[in-house]
Amino acid sequence: MSATITLHPGKEKSVLRRHPWLFEGSIAYFNGRARAGDTVEVQSADGRRLGRASWSPSSQIRARMWSFDADTPIDDAFFRARVGAAWARRAALGLSPAQGMRVLHAESDGLPGVIADAYGDTIVLQLTSAGADKWRAAIVSALQRASGCARIYERSDSDVRALEGLSAECGWRVGAASDAALEIVEHGLRMEVDIFAGHKTGFYLDQRDSRALAARLAAGRRVLNCFCYTGGFSLAALHGGATQVLSIDSSAPALSQARRNLVLNSGLAAERAEWLEADVFAALRDLRKAGRRFDLIVLDPPKFAPSASHATAAARAYKDINMNALRLLEPGGLLLTYSCSGGVGADLFQKIVAGAALDAGVEARMLARLGPGPDHPVGLAFPEGEYLKGLLCQI
Ligand code: SAH
Repeated sequence: MSATITLHPGKEKSVLRRHPWLFEGSIAYFNGRARAGDTVEVQSADGRRLGRASWSPSSQIRARMWSFDADTPIDDAFFRARVGAAWARRAALGLSPAQGMRVLHAESDGLPGVIADAYGDTIVLQLTSAGADKWRAAIVSALQRASGCARIYERSDSDVRALEGLSAECGWRVGAASDAALEIVEHGLRMEVDIFAGHKTGFYLDQRDSRALAARLAAGRRVLNCFCYTGGFSLAALHGGATQVLSIDSSAPALSQARRNLVLNSGLAAERAEWLEADVFAALRDLRKAGRRFDLIVLDPPKFAPSASHATAAARAYKDINMNALRLLEPGGLLLTYSCSGGVGADLFQKIVAGAALDAGVEARMLARLGPGPDHPVGLAFPEGEYLKGLLCQI
């Protein structure tokens, strides 16, 4: 072991509770030498060995625990075991890559900085921390071994890499390069996934269960799907029997993909779908002026608050769209509303939506709290893993 970090007195408590992050301010001493991504030994102020972590000298999260057992070597076998266990947990739940499946959910699968999504026989890997970046080869080989997948594409171009001093890394890691479009089948609907230029790894797998819920709620309803991306909720609503579906996104490429996805599913009533390239903030106001009304509205915006420091501005944005959406609902109408901001917790989000209802002059009640499916587990000691929260409300 090349280096040891010693924590300030008391700062071992979160580690003992299995929280994987060590912030700059919790570290009292650093002994030895380590470069970004190296494995360091972690100990408490009184010399108790707490485990091993990856070192991120340029990030506020200075170290991320790989293991809470100080004697576990961090090597190829470690990654084989962690990746194999994550795969087995999902297999045991009956999840399958054919419908699209998150294989590795970072900290909550014991692998900080490692995201992997499977689309059929292709896995898309995203590494976001210096430690994860350093172990790329071990992680790739472990993924291939556990999944038997044909191809692994790395899509490490997330903005958060800059905080770790890492530049973007994209390319094929396993299997022959292929630019063929990938397809998954979610709840019976064919969806193309653009792993090269799409958002994140190409698809929002975390909303799979909510799209199924939207399908169940859509029968006989006029649906408005805001921030539609490639049309996941829109197609689900058509599948569920919506009488019309208006979908809005500001991204032209996302809307083209959405239209192609609709064409792929020839059983859907395509004439009921309307696509609008627009800013949702303005479009909601325009729809009101035009006298449009809806029975089910989906609001699934991008992350307005990446961290708690953005929470105030984000709260204003969430309130604005929720208020204007609620004003477009017919009495008895349903709102599916989400926040994927790490900086906005479930309680705050509920307060924001409550405030929006008050200002919209409607009485709304909550029918369900929503979140991602079981391929996005949340470590019980890692609340930061619970980034996506949703509410189903009725007015
Ligand atoms: N509900 C989608 C995922 C939404 S991701 C699904 O199930 O797949 C968020 C989307 O919001 C992205 O497609 C992005 O292009 C779009 N977006 C971001 N800001 C926007 C804005 N101000 N107005 C309209 N769309 C916006």
